Amino acid sequence: MEKKIEKKRAFFMLTFEQYQRDQESRSRESEEIPLVEQVSQILGITKDKTYPDLLKDPRWQKKRLRIFERDNWKCQGCGREDLTLVIHHLYYLSHDIPPWDYPDEALQTLCEECHEERRSRSKSCR
Ligand SMILES: [Zn+2]
Repeated sequence: MEKKIEKKRAFFMLTFEQYQRDQESRSRESEEIPLVEQVSQILGITKDKTYPDLLKDPRWQKKRLRIFERDNWKCQGCGREDLTLVIHHLYYLSHDIPPWDYPDEALQTLCEECHEERRSRSKSCR
């Protein structure tokens, strides 16, 4: 049990580091604005940023890690821990609040299946 969580944590950090490396080399190659600068501009230019871009922010990755840890890397809907876990928003705040500034209680660990189910159920509200 403990070992499983260790493995997931390690995998999380690995993919996150990989992402950061990709991001670094990409910004070097294309001479685009470095990620750090982009991030510092996010609040001012949220309209130009797509939501998935925001989700790759290191602050969001740290937040995700904290929620996964809190929920013991287990789906809070069905209790499974062998499926891909995602962070589910229990409610949404104003659009200019970045996901990492959400209170922890607004976020929940769900597996992809439960997440998909809740999303389709709440489609009318989105
Ligand atoms: Zn589930």
